[in-house]
Amino acid sequence: MPPISFALVVLAGGFLFSYPKEFPPPEDYRVDEEWEGEPGISVTYFGASTILISDEKTSILIDGFFSRPSWSRLVFRRISPDVDRITEALACCAKDVDVIFVSHSHHDHAMDVGVVAERTGADVVGSASVGAIARAASGAQINFIPTNDRQEHKYGEFLITTFETPHSEPTSYVGNLNPAFSYPARVSDFRADVNYSFLVHHPLLRVLVVPSANFQFGALRDVETDVSMISIGGVSTKEADFFEGYWREAVKERGAKLIIPIHWDDFSEPISSELPALPHFADYVPASHGRLKKFALIDGVSYKYLRPLRKVKLTRRIK
Ligand SMILES: [Zn+2]
Repeated sequence: MPPISFALVVLAGGFLFSYPKEFPPPEDYRVDEEWEGEPGISVTYFGASTILISDEKTSILIDGFFSRPSWSRLVFRRISPDVDRITEALACCAKDVDVIFVSHSHHDHAMDVGVVAERTGADVVGSASVGAIARAASGAQINFIPTNDRQEHKYGEFLITTFETPHSEPTSYVGNLNPAFSYPARVSDFRADVNYSFLVHHPLLRVLVVPSANFQFGALRDVETDVSMISIGGVSTKEADFFEGYWREAVKERGAKLIIPIHWDDFSEPISSELPALPHFADYVPASHGRLKKFALIDGVSYKYLRPLRKVKLTRRIK
């Protein structure tokens, strides 16, 4: 290869794999330390859309993705739950889990659910595809509970409602999961059909979680929340109309006082307290950050990111 071509390749590679300088999120957009002492509901973020919400008596896990296989494994290899990474994450920050609500059956949401359920004894709630993936990962009996649009599930003082909302666009690996799904599996084997968002309602706090960044007007009608945790994965290339609609449907019309973006991190990196954002070639997170920042200012909504692996108390007295 001539030297000039080699240099171009190096430059292009450097651009594609460089990380946005403004991320991890700027200090003034991170949840403040003092929030940790507030009375309220504790929330722990594990990257992607994996979130533990707890009142210390009952703990609700959203998704439960801890293996986070690398890009090269995703492209060239078959993948299986990484038991060491799952064990480490649970031991650190999710010792008790009563139920796992899974948004859809792509690997970055569902691949670890069977192992987590086996380790914690948690129920698994999701689509039939999620149930099949959970059973494929576990040698034990799993208590799988299928759900539907606007179905309610009661756990302790929590009432969780599942809402069918569209998956982010464009997307790959859509359709019916092969009934013979087993591990190890290619990333393309994790086919997704239906996708859910969740309203986690507790007398102390209401949290709306939108794990896939898309909306359909009316899908969340009548929902009121204190906090909206919304995915921003892959939305940096969307037009202004998309952000306006997403903000209206998932934040403004829901009455949220605080928005916490999720699924902004590079989910091929192991969990750490300083997760990198998705690389430029996949998503330009600072562009999405800038747009949401503007809406939050206009509508007087607090806008914060959670530090991964840190239990934070959220309260209705949100600043
Ligand atoms: Zn997906």
